[in-house]
Amino acid sequence: RARVLKAECYEVFNPKMRSEAVRQFQLEAELRRAIERQEFVLYYQPIIALQTRQLAGFEALVRWQHPQRGLISPAEFIGPAEETGLIVPLGLWILRQACQQMYDWHQAFPQLGPLIISVNLSPRQFNQSDLTQQVAQVLADCHLESCSLKLELTESTAMENVSSTIEQLLKLKALNLKLSLDDFGTGYSSLSYLHHFPTDTLKVDRSFVNRMVETQGDSDIVGTIIALGHKLGMDVIAEGVETEEQCVQLQTFGCQYGQGYLFSKPLPAHTAAAFIAQQVTQLS
Ligand code: C2E
Ligand code: MG
Ligand code: MG
Ligand code: MG
Repeated sequence: RARVLKAECYEVFNPKMRSEAVRQFQLEAELRRAIERQEFVLYYQPIIALQTRQLAGFEALVRWQHPQRGLISPAEFIGPAEETGLIVPLGLWILRQACQQMYDWHQAFPQLGPLIISVNLSPRQFNQSDLTQQVAQVLADCHLESCSLKLELTESTAMENVSSTIEQLLKLKALNLKLSLDDFGTGYSSLSYLHHFPTDTLKVDRSFVNRMVETQGDSDIVGTIIALGHKLGMDVIAEGVETEEQCVQLQTFGCQYGQGYLFSKPLPAHTAAAFIAQQVTQLS
């Protein structure tokens, strides 16, 4: 009898699943260590005003500078960090780092209009009850004006529990910072709630922008999202702009901002500073 049970157990926990569990466990331990050893680094991707081609701000994007494996993309570790709750201390570090950096750039380049720094919030971070207090603390510590900070929340996260989302967004908005709905068009949006969100910006998801020149349907979706955003009083940023053709089409739709490889990849801090410096010389 016992032998039979044992055999069944082996059936259930097959070696593949076991190795997956081990891998997850190792990743979690490594993430913990990485936070302690400060192995994370922020990259900054320019956000450009399409009409003037001027720099409007940056989105902070985290990478893991792994001592053996090199630069690891957030796609690999944000999910596990979210599941284990490690995203909370990591997210706070990201916010602080990004705000400090933007304060330094404001000091170094006073000629430019106030650039805005956008920071992504994961679902777990967003659902913390003391998030607003934490953000307020970071802004105060970094001496950054709150209107220079924009927090990005994906449409899917925002729609998980609409009434608590609205409550949380209103608390954040009371700090006078900016709010953005990220990856818009990919979640199950409820349009009837959208106008209750105190959000300043919609970011059209990269997947639509990517196909908009080839596919009429995607072009229609992009045009509709832009019109919708404007109707609700929001600015619109197109993600993943890679070609001049996309840029032209976006402008005919009246889209104000773009972000993508056409303008720049995400840059390490010193290269981003050089990007700003170049803008300054173009202006003068
Ligand atoms: P996201 O917030 O939608 O960020 C935009 C992603 O699109 C970035 O990928 C960026 O490198 C990529 N991208 C930008 N322009 C182009 C383009 O022209 N073509 C293509 N193919 N891709 C482009 P990345 O840096 O790998 O980040 C992926 C996602 O990971 C982000 O999507 C965001 O959801 C998450 N993430 C990144 N950094 C953070 C962070 O600090 N905190 C949290 N919670 N999530 C983060
Ligand atoms: Mg984002
Ligand atoms: Mg996005
Ligand atoms: Mg995206």
